[in-house]
Amino acid sequence: MSDSQLAFTPEHDHSGCIEHALMDARSLCEERNLRFTPIRELVLKTIWQSHKPLGAYELLPALAEAGFNSAPPTVYRALDFLQEQGLVHRISLLNAFIGCPHPSTSHEGSFLICRHCNNAVEVEAPSISNEVNKQAERFGFIPEQQSIEVLGTCPECQRGNA
Ligand SMILES: [Zn+2]
Ligand SMILES: [Zn+2]
Ligand SMILES: [Zn+2]
Repeated sequence: MSDSQLAFTPEHDHSGCIEHALMDARSLCEERNLRFTPIRELVLKTIWQSHKPLGAYELLPALAEAGFNSAPPTVYRALDFLQEQGLVHRISLLNAFIGCPHPSTSHEGSFLICRHCNNAVEVEAPSISNEVNKQAERFGFIPEQQSIEVLGTCPECQRGNA
């Protein structure tokens, strides 16, 4: 089972997911000579508090509590940074953000999102992206961004446990 699939396994040790994500982010910023500022770290950590995507406004209370300027532009700047570095993905369907479990490789995020418990799993679907790019090329279309978002019911919710 890969890290990202843990989202549908509620009994997993989630503190491990958070630790892993923060470690990845630190080494990635160091490698790229970028500053992993306290606010960037806090926003990333807050997004990783679960495997449920979080909206920008849902991040504000955590910032306020930690004594940061919790004005929306501050949050958006931190989110932009995290997105640019591939540390989080934006899920358009929900207008919300989710941590990426493998940020060091550049990729388009593909997601399975449970409509009942809101947990989302990132899946790798390179053959689908390739096919979409092929179709784009056929139409002379230049793709800039691609994301696959599938709504449904996770195994846990199918069992009626959520
Ligand atoms: Zn987890
Ligand atoms: Zn990702
Ligand atoms: Zn579910």
